[in-house]
Amino acid sequence: MLAARHNRRMNQPGPSPLAAGDPQLGVDAARAAIAAALRPIEGSETVPLLQAGGRVLAADLVSPIDVPAHDNSAMDGYAFVGSALAAEGPSAFSVVATVYAGQPFDGAVGAGECVRIMTGAVMPAGLDTVVPQELCRAESGRIVVEAGVMRRGENRRRRGEDLAAGKPALRAGRLLKPADIGLAASLGFEALEVKRRLRVALFSTGDELRAPGQALDPGCIFDSNRFALLAALQRLGFEAIDLGLVRDDPAALEAAFETAMASADAVLTSGGVSVGDADYTRALLARLGEVAFWKVAMRPGRPFAFGPLRGRGERTSWLFALPGNPVAALVTFYVFAREALLQLAGAVPQPLPLLRARCTSPIRKRPGRTEFQRGVVAPAPEGGWQVGLTGAQGAGILRSMSEANALVVLGHDQGSVAAGDAVDVWLFDGLT
Ligand code: AMP
Ligand code: MG
Repeated sequence: MLAARHNRRMNQPGPSPLAAGDPQLGVDAARAAIAAALRPIEGSETVPLLQAGGRVLAADLVSPIDVPAHDNSAMDGYAFVGSALAAEGPSAFSVVATVYAGQPFDGAVGAGECVRIMTGAVMPAGLDTVVPQELCRAESGRIVVEAGVMRRGENRRRRGEDLAAGKPALRAGRLLKPADIGLAASLGFEALEVKRRLRVALFSTGDELRAPGQALDPGCIFDSNRFALLAALQRLGFEAIDLGLVRDDPAALEAAFETAMASADAVLTSGGVSVGDADYTRALLARLGEVAFWKVAMRPGRPFAFGPLRGRGERTSWLFALPGNPVAALVTFYVFAREALLQLAGAVPQPLPLLRARCTSPIRKRPGRTEFQRGVVAPAPEGGWQVGLTGAQGAGILRSMSEANALVVLGHDQGSVAAGDAVDVWLFDGLT
C-alpha cells in the first residue's frame, strides 16, 4: 500500500513483532507481521450472480465456452473473402444477403460476392474480412473497395480470442467488481461460489462512552468509533456483530471477549484495550491468546494491539485493538485492519494506489514515523492534483476526517513538507 519508495528504506530490525513486551514497530513492519500471521477462513456458499458483487470468489471461474463463441464482425460493413482484394485498383463485390447479430446466415457466398453484416453477427463460412461501411462505396447492388484500404482478416473477431473454453476467467480470491459480474454473466453463470462472509465482532471500551440515543451524562461522550467502524465493515460486505459498549471493568471485558471469540473470525475493539494500560487487560488477553501490544511509529495511532485469540475448540479469532481516539481508530483501521480483514475473508490483497499531489501548505513533520494527515484532493489549476489539509489535525478531531477525501501519507523517513512539494495521498474512495 504505502509507496514502495519509502517502504524500501524502512528496514525494521528488532524483536519479533508478536513477541512479549511492547515492540516499537514501523508501519510497514506492523502490516507485514499482521499479513504473515493471518490465514484465510474456510467455507464458501453459492449465491445468485447479483448477490456476488463485493464478495470474494471462492474458486477459479473456468470458462465453459469460447468467447466469442463464433468468428464475428467487429463492424457494421460488408464481409467478403479477403484474398479477393485486388493489389491495385478497386475491388467490387455484389451484395447477396444481410446478416444480423443473433441470426447466422448459412447460405453460400461465392466469388465476387459479399454480405452486408452487422456488428456481432456471425461471419458466414469462408468469409474472413469486413470492410466498414464508411470505407467503401455502394454502387447499384455492389460495393467497391479501393486498393490499400483494407487488409485481409481485418474487423473479424475470432472465436475464443478473448477467452478459450477451459481457461480461468476469474481467479479465486477475486473481490468481485461490476465488470467481473458482467464477465461471469457473459459466460452464462447464473450463480457464483463465493467465500462465506467474514464475521467481525466489535465493541467500544470506556466508562465515559454513551450510545447515541442515551442521555449524555456529565463528563461523558458519545461512542463514535463503533458506528464509524460498523459503517466501514458494512462497505466491505462483512457480517458485523455489534457487541455495544463495554465498561472499563475486568469482568465486563472478559465477557465481551468470550462472546466475540465464540462468534467471530475477527474482533475489533477501540479504546483502552490497545494501550493495555490496565494490568487486567494484559492479563486477560494473555489468558485468551497471544496478543502483542505495539508502539507503532505512526501518527495518529501509536498504540495498537494485534494477535490471535484462541476460542474453545481451536478456533482462532484475530484481535485488532484500535486506539480510542476517533481519528486514530479509523486511520489504524484503514492502515492495519482493512486489508488484513480482506485477507482473512480469502481475498487476494489488492494494494491501494497512492497518488502524488502538490501540497498547498507546509506541514511540519519529523523523520522516524509515518504520518497520516487528513486532506482534500482536488484538481490543481496548473494540472495534476493538489491537496490541502482539513484544519486542525488532532487525533480526536473526527471532523478533520469527515471533511477529508484522502489521507496525506508522509513516509517514515520524510521530514517537513514545504508548500508546493509533492506528497503521497491515499484516496478514501477505493478504501471502501
Ligand atoms: P483510550 O484509548 O481509551 O484511552 O481513549 C482515548 C481517547 O479516545 C479518549 O479521549 C476517549 O474518550 C476517546 N474514545 C475512546 N473510545 C471512543 C469511542 N468509541 N468513541 C469516541 N471516542 C472514544
Ligand atoms: Mg478508554
